[in-house]
Amino acid sequence: MHLQIQTLSLNDDSGSLPAASIVPSNQQVCDSILLLWREEPASEDYNLEELLKVVKERHSEWKLSVESLRKLLQSHSLYATDEKSLQIYSDKVRMPEMAEGEVKLPRSVRIGACSGDKQRGLFATNALKAGDMIFEDLPLVVVPPMDKLVLMQSGKACPLCGSSVSHSQHTIIMNGLDCGECGAVWCSKNCKKNDLTHTSLRHTRSRCRQINLNGWKKYESFCKQYVFVAAYSIGIIYASMILDKNGKNGVHPKFQLLADVSQRIRKDSSDSTNLGGTLDASSGAFTSDDPEPMWTQALDLFKEAFPELDDMDMEAYLNCIGKFNINQVSGQIFPVYSFINHDCEPNVRYEIDDKLRLKLYARKHIKKGEELLTTYVNPLHGVKLRRRELRVNWGFLCHCDRCNRELTKRKEKLTSPTPSAHHSPANSFSDKNRRKSSMRNARPDLHELLKNGQEFDLEIPDNLETHHRKTSVRFDNNVSVAVDE
Ligand SMILES: [Zn+2]
Ligand SMILES: [Zn+2]
Ligand SMILES: [Zn+2]
Repeated sequence: MHLQIQTLSLNDDSGSLPAASIVPSNQQVCDSILLLWREEPASEDYNLEELLKVVKERHSEWKLSVESLRKLLQSHSLYATDEKSLQIYSDKVRMPEMAEGEVKLPRSVRIGACSGDKQRGLFATNALKAGDMIFEDLPLVVVPPMDKLVLMQSGKACPLCGSSVSHSQHTIIMNGLDCGECGAVWCSKNCKKNDLTHTSLRHTRSRCRQINLNGWKKYESFCKQYVFVAAYSIGIIYASMILDKNGKNGVHPKFQLLADVSQRIRKDSSDSTNLGGTLDASSGAFTSDDPEPMWTQALDLFKEAFPELDDMDMEAYLNCIGKFNINQVSGQIFPVYSFINHDCEPNVRYEIDDKLRLKLYARKHIKKGEELLTTYVNPLHGVKLRRRELRVNWGFLCHCDRCNRELTKRKEKLTSPTPSAHHSPANSFSDKNRRKSSMRNARPDLHELLKNGQEFDLEIPDNLETHHRKTSVRFDNNVSVAVDE
């Protein structure tokens, strides 16, 4: 049998536009540059001519000159930027003061004061070897994944953790995993026991005066419509606080101890256009439009859902949204982990298991009393993109050893007498590979790869008994398929 490879377009309109016929918007150009940096970290070192060449390869229909590209990138702090002109807001991130013993910590760590912008951090109480587990951390409250709400309501996904449910009717009845009032089915007895909000947010039977069921439903569908994950999550956290009446779960005090900053301040430092989806890329909590009307509407619905909440004004609400966004990891808040500061060469790494437990491990030897440092951004990215994401999302300019080293190297390259030949686009592949192999321990961010239409290798078990192995799949406008001739 002969196979032939055919390329299909996923777009409705497959006809290509004539070359250099369209003047792209500023946002489009900047987005494409940031996408390029994500896909090819070495492209951060291109000069303007090289950059223009690659952009035109990707968008032959764009009409763009070197000079207009220079102006555009400079005006958005993406090229030859004076660091002093960049907006940072780390001084506006509020770290609530805490009394000794207020937070229950695992024995392996303690909270301590840091120098500079960082204010406070987490330190090892004993020496650790590479690979040692440091602690386990449970979410403040489990925030069910918003994108699975429909599946949850029809019993196909667990209404708490969101994992898919395929129990037999027998298993469901024997273990009492169903709700009895709606179609929800939990994945396990544990999830059912820990789901504190289901009845109050889903069923009229609930008599909690502080939660208005219809108001909540409106708020939830609003958040879903705008993919406003942070607002939805704050709603779940508030409902959990209300339902944690005797404070058994400590939701309120733990939430109060998290660092916070207004979402408005964060939005302003993102150039207010959210170039390349840098701001809250993982939570989708922001669109390129002016978010103020959306915020106003969200707050009105929030107050309708929680009618007895009288101290919530716009500032307090945006502080909660910002607080969620700077602390969340994979859509959850892990109270102990959230004390850890950033470094582009972290000494710890984490895994989140299917029970949503975060497990923290040492990546290298850590001395007694040394600060634990994690990475908030994808360590495979280049120095410019990493620092941009840290600045926009967390408000600081990273001056870690790795950033300083890489910045010095860039400066040397830019001022060296034989410019750019060794880092031209054509040779970028080896550069990229080197960077990848040096960070082999870091896991690629699949969500981001998929979002950006990048090519990546699928892990296929070696013992898979098939001769028809596909080793890579490409997600973009075109999809290559093998068809019978
Ligand atoms: Zn579950
Ligand atoms: Zn139910
Ligand atoms: Zn850094």
